[in-house]
Amino acid sequence: MIVDRYAAHWWAAVSRGLLLLQHCERCDTLQHPPSAVCRSCHEDRGLGWREHDGAARLTAATTVRSTTYPQFPPPYSIGVAEIARGCHLIAGLPTVLPVGAPVQIVFRDWGGRHLPVIEPKEDRNG
Ligand SMILES: [Zn+2]
Repeated sequence: MIVDRYAAHWWAAVSRGLLLLQHCERCDTLQHPPSAVCRSCHEDRGLGWREHDGAARLTAATTVRSTTYPQFPPPYSIGVAEIARGCHLIAGLPTVLPVGAPVQIVFRDWGGRHLPVIEPKEDRNG
């Protein structure tokens, strides 16, 4: 994610343990990663933020075996979680899970930073 002023706002929320999605008031679209314009109606006015509870679904996963980030020594797994329709978040995946699994975005200290992490969604009914 390019760290422009929209991403900087998103990361500031992450540092407070909040998962935000950008919301277009004009066409009621949620989007992530954040952008200067709405990806649906292409307007730059009316973009705001909504807090998300972190419930998501794992849509892809892989193991990183080589990296240029010394704070994240390989191997480690990352996943892609769909947090809302069309809104995907790439984050650390400490537990091996099948694609399609319900997951929860939480925040953990990893590599010296407070980062979103994908964890299994606990079954609150069982
Ligand atoms: Zn829009």
